[in-house]
Amino acid sequence: MPRAGASLRERTWRLAASMERRLSAEVVVVGGGSAGVAAAVAAARLGADVLLVERYGFLGGAGTNSGVNCFAGFYTSGDDPRPVVAGVGGEMVERLRAAEGCLPPFRAAGSRNTVVPFLPEVAKCVLDEMLADAGVRLRLHTWVTGAEVAGRTVRAAALWSKGGPERACAQVFVDCTGDADLVAFAGGAFAFGNEDGTLQAASMYFTVTGVDRERLARLTRPEIADLVGRAHAEGWPMIAPQPGLFVPLPHTGEVLCAFHRDLGVNGLDAESLTRGEVHARRAAASYLRLFRERFPGFEGARLCRTGPQLGIRETRRVMGRYVLHGRECMEGARFADAVARGGWPIEIHDRDEGRAYARYGYIRGDGYYDIPARALIARDLDNVLTAGRCLSASHGAQASARVMGTAWATGHAAGALAAVQSRGARDPLPNPAGRARPDDEAWYGAAQEALRSQGALI
Ligand SMILES: Cc1cc2nc3c(=O)[nH]c(=O)nc-3n(C[C@H](O)[C@H](O)[C@H](O)COP(=O)(O)OP(=O)(O)OC[C@H]3O[C@@H](n4cnc5c(N)ncnc54)[C@H](O)[C@@H]3O)c2cc1C
Repeated sequence: MPRAGASLRERTWRLAASMERRLSAEVVVVGGGSAGVAAAVAAARLGADVLLVERYGFLGGAGTNSGVNCFAGFYTSGDDPRPVVAGVGGEMVERLRAAEGCLPPFRAAGSRNTVVPFLPEVAKCVLDEMLADAGVRLRLHTWVTGAEVAGRTVRAAALWSKGGPERACAQVFVDCTGDADLVAFAGGAFAFGNEDGTLQAASMYFTVTGVDRERLARLTRPEIADLVGRAHAEGWPMIAPQPGLFVPLPHTGEVLCAFHRDLGVNGLDAESLTRGEVHARRAAASYLRLFRERFPGFEGARLCRTGPQLGIRETRRVMGRYVLHGRECMEGARFADAVARGGWPIEIHDRDEGRAYARYGYIRGDGYYDIPARALIARDLDNVLTAGRCLSASHGAQASARVMGTAWATGHAAGALAAVQSRGARDPLPNPAGRARPDDEAWYGAAQEALRSQGALI
């Protein structure tokens, strides 16, 4: 079988060649969700040479890969919503609006929270453009699978794509994987779930078309709760007792259905994810049958899309130089090294408490809390920052700071810190990251100045 042998040799050679392939940048951002895109754009605009690595073929993270088509966290809660996130995140919303990809901010009847529904397909294009305009080098279809570490410094991220293994070297890395993958691979400290290791529920959102929107608009929250509760009591398959939400999306006629929740999924375990995905799609079909049969306006509804993947609210959280606590979020804490603001309430999806879908804890005072730079710096790795869902926070604080608006803000901040730090690796000043050093304040201060110059609210 000489032909087969030759092709095997050729493949082996190609694999060996790709193993030697070495990418390098000043800043490598891992993960192209809200936090990762913000970090990459901010760092590049501050002059850093940036490479962004993303496992899927598109950007946007849970906003595009898990049907989470509604930005939360850009505004404070209550009757007088005020913006808490601007800068790169604010610009993204403006670009989305200009591309007819989102609705103006709105507050659903009976809700205290202001959100921005958007179209994921438009968002994918807008995010591509933002990276290209900022001069970020983008590598899609590439997983980070490990880390090469010397002492407390990450030298390279190990990558895997269809072409085989590669390495990405950088002065500074920003872990925006949501799961703290890079930090975990590098041996950095992380936490997992609450005190018992219990994670927040995973959820499969899905969209339907063919809904009479005028009748949907008249459907009240108590009516939805009643219809779902009765179906559950009657033993309707896979229908949970908790009510859910319908979010009409702009322009396409799609309605987002947020009802499903599964408390048994571990987002780091492929077996668990497989079970969860299959179960969630069966649940989506059952909900659709229920809507068509009993919900006014849904008689002609058709399933449009699921996911495409199960939405994971929580896995690992990086343990940083500071761990933000839920109590500090609720009190509207202020920090001297503030680099971002969180304005979304604590929203915990956990064990059933009566019929509650989620438990909310609202922020007091001005309606927002500061996020300190130290919560974005890995405690025991000198050149690794983090942002978004896996920032350094307690289970409770993460349940607020994980939302996409806040992820845009913490991503923006991590990008500014990374740019300042990588500049520091070229010149002696300002300070490169490291163990507590006397000039850390100078580093935080330079990042704050850069953030203000880029329009961030801090
Ligand atoms: C069911 C559900 C409902 C939610 N509802 C809302 C809501 O209504 N509004 C809101 O604002 N937020 C909501 N959230 C929270 C929000 O979607 C996420 O917390 C937010 O997307 C976090 O942003 P991120 O950038 O940190 O992570 P993600 O959006 O998860 O992005 C992480 C990115 O990293 C990539 N990645 C991961 N691992 C690797 C790897 N090893 N190598 C390469 N790439 C990798 C992923 O593919 C992804 O693109 C919800 C979340 C869920 C799950």
